[in-house]
Amino acid sequence: MAGRRPMIIFVALVLPWFGLVPLASPASAAPAGTGDCSAGAHTLAPPGSHLYPDTGNGGYTSLHTLVHLVYDATTNMFLPGNQVVLTDRATQCLTSFSLDLERRSANTSASPDMTVNSVTVNGQPAQFGFVQPTYPGDPNGANDPNPAAHEASQTNPVGGPGINPLPPACSPELPNTKTKPDALDGTQCPPNKLVITPSAPIGNGATFTVTVSYTGRPGVHNDGDGTTEGWFRAPDGSFVTTEPVASEDWMPLNDYPAAKPAYDFSDTVTAGRTVIANGVLVSVQQHAASQEFPGGSVTWNWHSAAPIASYLVEDSVGKYRLSSRTVGGIKFYRAQNGLISPAQQQSNAAIMGMQPDITAFESQFNGPYPFTSDGIVIGTPSVSFDEEMQTMIAFAGGVINTDTLYHENMHQWWGDNVTEDDYRMTFFKEGMATLAEFLYHARLAEDAAGGPSSPQGQAAFQASLVSQFNRIYRRSGSFWTTAPSNPEPFTLFSGSNTYDRPGAAYIALRQILGPANFDRVLQQLQQVYGAASISEAQLEAAFHQWLPVQSSACQARLSQFFTQWFDTAYPQGGGNNKPMITGPGLAGPGFYSAPGKCG
Ligand SMILES: [Zn+2]
Repeated sequence: MAGRRPMIIFVALVLPWFGLVPLASPASAAPAGTGDCSAGAHTLAPPGSHLYPDTGNGGYTSLHTLVHLVYDATTNMFLPGNQVVLTDRATQCLTSFSLDLERRSANTSASPDMTVNSVTVNGQPAQFGFVQPTYPGDPNGANDPNPAAHEASQTNPVGGPGINPLPPACSPELPNTKTKPDALDGTQCPPNKLVITPSAPIGNGATFTVTVSYTGRPGVHNDGDGTTEGWFRAPDGSFVTTEPVASEDWMPLNDYPAAKPAYDFSDTVTAGRTVIANGVLVSVQQHAASQEFPGGSVTWNWHSAAPIASYLVEDSVGKYRLSSRTVGGIKFYRAQNGLISPAQQQSNAAIMGMQPDITAFESQFNGPYPFTSDGIVIGTPSVSFDEEMQTMIAFAGGVINTDTLYHENMHQWWGDNVTEDDYRMTFFKEGMATLAEFLYHARLAEDAAGGPSSPQGQAAFQASLVSQFNRIYRRSGSFWTTAPSNPEPFTLFSGSNTYDRPGAAYIALRQILGPANFDRVLQQLQQVYGAASISEAQLEAAFHQWLPVQSSACQARLSQFFTQWFDTAYPQGGGNNKPMITGPGLAGPGFYSAPGKCG
């Protein structure tokens, strides 16, 4: 299983792209200053990135996406008329720009098989074609003739049998989780960049609409750790969980977490099926039988005014039973697949009913819930993970559990409203969601000891968090060997560096700042970075701002704390090979040398 697998079929596509569709109308006059126009970047990843460096597209800002699926749920096919309409604003004068779309993936049983039929820009036919990604920052540009500029790898520079000193252009699609991580290092990246050339350049600052019409079968992507994500086939339709990159396995988009357009959905599907998407349900229209839908069809319209990050777009279709209720001004949706057994549906419903209470509990720390709706969809496919789809948390395998609901609901603030600015920051939001699980267990301890208003309850809450920290701080082996801010694709979703270590770091920060100041940081971050994204420096600056002792010694110690907890890969073993700054009342050396003093 560790054998190298050259993807020879892609080699020919290293050649510069040639237009596939002739212009259907004469080009209009180019805007003034066309000489300064150029192609938009084919990635949003920073130079040297080895985490999905193939994703995202530059030269424009994504403002709004209208998803208009025409989907036959009985055959799992997108039919003619299926399209997305993307509204973007140019941030430079553009001669061409790109989107991400994986028409066929490395998955052997559930690969997509999609065809782009036409592309228009502002209603005018545009040329389009597919090219391989190029490593970010390539001075030879996106169509570098050197095949080494288009190779997959877990690491920077490219690993594998060839000596390639260049950074990778994409992350490998490992066939399964047991594959050696470096098995595909040095292989050619697939041509997943959809490059669009409008009939005339788009002026800097101009808003433009792109309509991509495509048909065929959506599918799943094999990830850098061998798990799968994307559009999962269900007996009655589909179930969608896509982190980190597989939205492009069912629709063309600007596939990068920091690209956050608002969304509308207008999906026409087989009659009798329900569409579950983000935001709020606007309307449902039944249609009579047609050639494409002999048994009739139905159009579901959903609307999200809030922008949505690339991996949080939900669009499952099937025999879902949808209901809603409004609590505290928030509309809570519940959807379970009708093929789940009645007994299981009943026990799921009991947990789903807790979502308003969990939302109120988490609001105590994070501040007001950031969206007008929240919700849960439970699908039947047994897939790699549950996911925090924005306002519509997706649970797989027909089952929900309380601990994970606390986790995914916390993501509505962290990851969904305030999004990581690139994949390296995944630990920031997974750490916050892990903290939510710790807070849940602290809440249980508090309730058992007399509740939140009793001193015994409050002491039990605090003791539970301390014991969670101390349990993690004792970890040995390889627990501390990957820096949370610098994983490989293979370790991006590993429990130690992306979940438990940053989760424990947040408990320590709560001890260092005090609970009240800690909550002020969270609420300030929501206010400043909500509906947008955040960098590691911006995250850490907010904690610095609310450090109760503002001496230069304490600020320097907090900077060291972040370096140790977020940015350091320690040798194997634990012991002294782990962060040596903790917090007051916690295991380890603590933070302050004396009350109000740092060293
Ligand atoms: Zn999570």
